[in-house]
Amino acid sequence: MGSVDSLKFPRSAYIHIPFCHRRCFYCDFAVVPLGDKANGEVGPGSQSIKSYLDFLHREISIAPEGAPLSTVYIGGGTPSLLTPDQISSLLIHLRSHFGLQLGAEVSLEVDPASFIKKDLEGYLQAGINRFSLGGQSFDNKVLKRLGRRHNSVHLVEACLWLNDFYRSGIIKSWNLDLIQGLPGTDLPYWEQQLSLAIEMNSPHLSIYDLLLEPGTVFSWKRSRGELILPTEDVSIEMFRCTSSKLQEEGFARYEISNYSLPGHTSRHNRVYWSGAGWWGFGQGATSSPWGERLTRPRTSNAYKGWIEEQESTGLDPSLEQKSAKRTSLDDQVMVGLRRREGIDLMQLARCWGWNQKQCNENLNKLKKIWQDSIDRGFLNHCGWRFKLTDPEGMEISNQILVQMLIWWDSLSDCAPDQPIP
Ligand code: SF4
Repeated sequence: MGSVDSLKFPRSAYIHIPFCHRRCFYCDFAVVPLGDKANGEVGPGSQSIKSYLDFLHREISIAPEGAPLSTVYIGGGTPSLLTPDQISSLLIHLRSHFGLQLGAEVSLEVDPASFIKKDLEGYLQAGINRFSLGGQSFDNKVLKRLGRRHNSVHLVEACLWLNDFYRSGIIKSWNLDLIQGLPGTDLPYWEQQLSLAIEMNSPHLSIYDLLLEPGTVFSWKRSRGELILPTEDVSIEMFRCTSSKLQEEGFARYEISNYSLPGHTSRHNRVYWSGAGWWGFGQGATSSPWGERLTRPRTSNAYKGWIEEQESTGLDPSLEQKSAKRTSLDDQVMVGLRRREGIDLMQLARCWGWNQKQCNENLNKLKKIWQDSIDRGFLNHCGWRFKLTDPEGMEISNQILVQMLIWWDSLSDCAPDQPIP
């Protein structure tokens, strides 16, 4: 296994499937729209999918071998455009290359209206044991405004199928995604969405805020004054309603955007937030096997060219086996503060390599910068353990993280005192 301690090998893999039927109006992901009739096996788009899968398999083949995986996440795009056989062959390849631990969490993102119940059964047979359903809204008018292809009937039907699998013990968990703060929506709309999501019995909910990304239809509409978003006050009310309503239903908010019933947190998500390494495969996918991030090209041709280059000239240095690098302290704070348990600043700083003098000087500076947020009840701290309050602190998390990044940039003494082991 070379010079690397096998304990440091990543145990998680993300696979990106970039194809979608169409691009939603708010989306800036690395996706390839193939048209509403696209399908992984025959018909429109199938050749593009097959050619991409060929390159994806080639990329898995050239990755350094590592430890057996404990989580796999197939995301996109719309991975449910692939047939169960195509998903199965990806999982077989991962299993033969890395191995899969017994009880590994193997998740697939599915988009309503891109599959039927028989496909789900096929995915289960292929080895998927957790599904993440991109619902976004139960309201047909809102779905249309988002440019989504599915309607509320598709969404409810998909929820019923997944809940059936869950209740009968065929899958251990499943997740439903919703977006809050959508144009033209208000608090009564959002309360109704949450009630419907709770009725669907999903044991895990991801509630994202709408982000206006440059280059999307939404950002263009916004610049023309055609996108009416909820006011800041209404957004805050929605945010608070999410937190209190889900808490009443027994959900714990274990990360800013993620809520789960006991025992249903996503193991794969926790890997990203814990700072552990992961493999990434596919167009636009990011990997961080040894602490250094590598994002693959976002367009098909550039991605394919990149694979050919890796095959002929050798691996990108970020992928080669090497001692795991410690993730930079500011990154660890940024990721850690999103979690319910927050961070122990002193412990992170010591692990990062600061000596006691650096810890005292630098951390006291940050504490001073955060003092106003502490006084106003946005940040709780006990000794050096800091966490955002829910919902007040989580609502303004960006502000608190920006303050931290300004602090990080201002430090003259942020290099670790000890060499990286
Ligand atoms: S289905 Fe998801 S990935 Fe595809 S365009 Fe819509 S938001 Fe983006």
